Amino acid sequence: MEVNLTGLTSANTEEDKNPLKMLILGSGPAGLSAALYAARAEIAPLVITGMELGGQAALTHTIENYPGFPEGVGGSQLGDLFQKQAERFGARVEFDSATAVDLSSRPFKVTTYNREYLTESLVIATGASPNRLKIAGEEEFTGKGVSWCATCDGWFFREKDVVVVGGGDSALEEGLFLTRYAKSVTIIHRRDTLRAGAILQNRAFANPKIHFIWNSVITDILGKDAVEAVRLQNVLTGEVTDQPTDGVFIFIGHTPNTQLFKNQLEMDDLGYIKTNMLMETSVPGVYAAGEAADPNFRQVVTSAGMGAAAAMQSIKFLEKLGVD
Ligand SMILES: Cc1cc2nc3c(=O)[nH]c(=O)nc-3n(C[C@H](O)[C@H](O)[C@H](O)COP(=O)(O)OP(=O)(O)OC[C@H]3O[C@@H](n4cnc5c(N)ncnc54)[C@H](O)[C@@H]3O)c2cc1C
Repeated sequence: MEVNLTGLTSANTEEDKNPLKMLILGSGPAGLSAALYAARAEIAPLVITGMELGGQAALTHTIENYPGFPEGVGGSQLGDLFQKQAERFGARVEFDSATAVDLSSRPFKVTTYNREYLTESLVIATGASPNRLKIAGEEEFTGKGVSWCATCDGWFFREKDVVVVGGGDSALEEGLFLTRYAKSVTIIHRRDTLRAGAILQNRAFANPKIHFIWNSVITDILGKDAVEAVRLQNVLTGEVTDQPTDGVFIFIGHTPNTQLFKNQLEMDDLGYIKTNMLMETSVPGVYAAGEAADPNFRQVVTSAGMGAAAAMQSIKFLEKLGVD
């Protein structure tokens, strides 16, 4: 095997001569469910994990709304279970990330940090990444009090005061989780009502550690070596105040990880890949599933369902090609 100076494996491996039947990008619920279905059809899919093993689900402490787990299940535990189940039937999982794709002809070419792959079908399950506030102090204090992951970083805020930015399910779920550690959790929301579901709202309102600041946005994150305060602006009155805090947890939505496919697949204005009911994209043989293609539901169960559907449709495509 020849390895060039960029670390890419050059041609002449068996895989280069014989394209894969199915390559799956992403190891979140959509990617690993696609892998399970393809593996059980004896397609032996290859999953390229990306940097987040288990996807966004692995970032949260407990998932209570994935069926089959009446007591809830740990986010990263669920990812491990998905992976084990897919591997049991022959899926291969590689820790690597796609850096470029060429979908102009089949077999499709996918370049990763480690090598190049050719594949007859492609399932894109690259999910989404958390949005940034894009304000002063956010980059500077990342890892020094600014975080997008309560499960990962909550422990560092024992008996400290933290703020959570956002008003949806994630903001409340993660805010509630942070009350295990923090002395106080102040939820800052730009409106005066929450988007989160009723159960979460009731739990948050009943929790004595949780406070709310309504109709306000953060304009600056302030501090010397670490976060010390956030500057708030009331969107109704314009009043500016500084709120002392030790940590800032940001849960203000997501952007799909689809930049790689720009100008190769049809997308909507927000960058979500357009699919039909069969998870087919604008290029035959390329399927998209989960949050990369779903601006609406964005749940583990819906993403997993889309992943399964994409694999099933891709299997039919391979059958028609005669490469099943
Ligand atoms: C804090 C938090 C709490 C949540 N709580 C819940 C909950 O309680 N219940 C619920 O149902 N949902 C919850 N969600 C939402 C749920 O996690 C997502 O809807 C689900 O994970 C989406 O699955 P996905 O497979 O589409 O994408 P993701 O989970 O986003 O996974 C994307 C995958 O693609 C990979 N990837 C990205 N770029 C590349 C690339 N270039 N090459 C290869 N791979 C790539 C990533 O590494 C990752 O493995 C929560 C989300 C967050 C952030």
